[in-house]
Amino acid sequence: MIKMTIGRIAEMCGGKLNGAAEAVSHGVVIDSRQVYENCLFIPIIGERVDGHDFVADVLSKGASAALWQRDRGEAPAGNIIVVDDTLQALQQLASAYLEQSEAKVIGVTGSNGKTTTKDMVDALLSQAYRVHKTQGNFNSHIGLPLTILSMPEHTEMIILEMGMRGRGEIELLSHIARPHAAIITNIGESHLELLGTREEIARAKMEIVSGLRPDGLFVYHGDEPLLHMLLNEPELRAQSMQKIAFGVNESNDWQVTGVMSRGRSTIFTTNVHEDEAWTLPLPGLHNVTNALAAMAIAVHYGVTLEQIRTGLSELKLSGMRIEQVEGAGGVTLLNDAYNASPSSMKAALDVLDGMKEHRRRIAVLGDMLELGTDEQVYHEQMGAYAATRVDLLFTYGERGRYIADAARAQMSPELVYDYTSKPELISALLETVQQGDVVLFKGSRGMRLEEVLQALMPDS
Ligand code: ATP
Ligand code: MG
Repeated sequence: MIKMTIGRIAEMCGGKLNGAAEAVSHGVVIDSRQVYENCLFIPIIGERVDGHDFVADVLSKGASAALWQRDRGEAPAGNIIVVDDTLQALQQLASAYLEQSEAKVIGVTGSNGKTTTKDMVDALLSQAYRVHKTQGNFNSHIGLPLTILSMPEHTEMIILEMGMRGRGEIELLSHIARPHAAIITNIGESHLELLGTREEIARAKMEIVSGLRPDGLFVYHGDEPLLHMLLNEPELRAQSMQKIAFGVNESNDWQVTGVMSRGRSTIFTTNVHEDEAWTLPLPGLHNVTNALAAMAIAVHYGVTLEQIRTGLSELKLSGMRIEQVEGAGGVTLLNDAYNASPSSMKAALDVLDGMKEHRRRIAVLGDMLELGTDEQVYHEQMGAYAATRVDLLFTYGERGRYIADAARAQMSPELVYDYTSKPELISALLETVQQGDVVLFKGSRGMRLEEVLQALMPDS
């Protein structure tokens, strides 16, 4: 947690202090409801709420100082640091705090698997270092600086998730954080609506190397041709960095050479330590490639193989990412309802397909949102993909119909059901699922498929 005099803070964020320079601030808060004694309050101007409205109140509740944006008129009495732009000041303060710390910075971006990979890197590095990381999904232009500012003193490694919706956003985050190491987990189709093409998505993710420190480490999904293409462009070729590619293809530095699923776990081997078999307490080849990225980072920072083994075994992921739960009546539920894009839905269907020990593999697939003009094609491709991997298919939502229609062309049509009403979908599922079945739930956040899953839980 940033703990310093407000005089120093004013210097770090390029502001002008009106008040007692020696007063000490014990951490940064942007939400007036979370104010505590001696915190520094940074008012952010949102669409509906302007944090400046709370500055006087927050100071009276014991904040040691508050920032104030010049164009907001007269500041209230108290310790005030006047700046041109409070959001920029927050970012600048975070950057300066990181700069004066000893911590190594690891940035993680990609279309899917950012949070998972961040948690994996944490699990491995924590075996050898004091690690601070993004909590949950706090990966934006506000969440990232706040994560940095909440970093305890003596942190040795900070792992930052970097999210985006369009071009320029990862560049900003990368310049704030100036990573020593950067990861791109994969390139998928999320945000296609905004960015137009997969190449543009790849370019947006590749911005993570723009803030990489000289001779920094870049760890990337080597199975993605677009990343190789971009790395071959003159500007990136000229950048001095160490590159490590990971994936399934043989050309990768870290390559998966064997995979076997055993219950909820996956056992895998790599080309790097040929004699070692690794156990990951998670399903899916995509999680093996995420683990490879984390292992490459860990080895780079000198974590031993034994520590890596322990770290992998201790992995706990945030909720709703292919979480396996026991439903009512001996039915197994796979909760991957957190979000969906074509690449992550395919990954989830692969996991389901591998669960042969179950009586029937059933998928409940919701709309994938924000895919842009080709959304119908993406849903139809998913229908064809699902048809060869599931015993029964339920779809939910208007776009889900495209999945269902395409699946019907490839499997018995009577095994495919499409719904646009949640109550109807729930009652159909309750009638259909039986002991021994496994049911996958996957759809975009806006579809809230966890509400359907809830209906199949024991206590509902
Ligand atoms: P968000 O953009 O919402 O922050 P994220 O990139 O942090 O997402 P995770 O939360 O780690 O991603 O994982 C979301 C889902 O993506 C997982 O449940 C899984 O289905 C899928 N997924 C994870 N890793 C990969 C990968 N490497 N390739 C494809 N799909 C993946
Ligand atoms: Mg995330």
